[in-house]
Amino acid sequence: MSRLAGRRVAITGAASGIGLETARLFAAEGARVALLDRDSEANAAAAGAIQGAIALDVDVTDETRIGEAMWEASRRFDGLDGLVVSAGIDMMASVGEMSLADWRRLMSINVDGAFLACRAALPALKASGKASIVLVSSGAGLRPLARRTAYCASKAALVMLGKTLAIEAAPQVRVNSVCPGAVDTPLFRWGLGQGEPTHQMDTIRQRYVLERIAEPVEIANAILFLTSHESSYVTGSALAVDAGRSFH
Ligand code: NAD
Repeated sequence: MSRLAGRRVAITGAASGIGLETARLFAAEGARVALLDRDSEANAAAAGAIQGAIALDVDVTDETRIGEAMWEASRRFDGLDGLVVSAGIDMMASVGEMSLADWRRLMSINVDGAFLACRAALPALKASGKASIVLVSSGAGLRPLARRTAYCASKAALVMLGKTLAIEAAPQVRVNSVCPGAVDTPLFRWGLGQGEPTHQMDTIRQRYVLERIAEPVEIANAILFLTSHESSYVTGSALAVDAGRSFH
């Protein structure tokens, strides 16, 4: 259990769901992890339960604060070798019923937040010389979902952000995306509560060849692979971790 021995990794959206499970797994694999989240209470509790973890209160849309937090993580760990961008929100609305303010709020967290986190971490990651970035996109960035226009567009943007940044950051930093299917997290459960016929459990399961919802650790394992040396020849990829939905 030491695939990340000595690695220093910042994780956004680390107080819950996929980000939290990734932080736990990375620490178990020997990494020191900095948990960045806007939910300070949950973030402090999460960091308190993970060996050597630090909690940093950050809203990823705050350009100044994300810069300070990456600097702080890098200072306390004496460098950074990894970044996982998991902070994100969902929204159920078609184009016709969405306000510009709602569109901007989602894009600002899912896309601007990813850009700001990458840009802030990049100098430290490049200095490490053997670093990686993993962006948590979504199967919704590969195949459309009804009434999730802004979400799907934001997740497709992350896939291309990952590919273009992979060119720019090479050879010191590898950049990849994971595109999960439905994962049992608070975000997913929030979606179920929206009362949409297309967001009922049975309908959702049928989108997947394996006909089930993923556990967060199944996504964290893919993020571990893309962060560890085991993926040393992989960059610019968008890995579907979606029980077959992207071809089903
Ligand atoms: P989650 O709600 O359990 O966790 C998201 C975390 O991000 C929370 O701790 C939240 O506080 C944090 N966050 C949100 N906005 C933030 C901001 N502005 N600044 C800082 N932190 C912020 O959700 P999750 O299911 O673990 O989702 C994680 C990522 O995975 C998201 O990007 C989501 O789009 C993506 N994803 C989730 C699923 C799924 O089915 N759960 C599927 C595909 C992709």
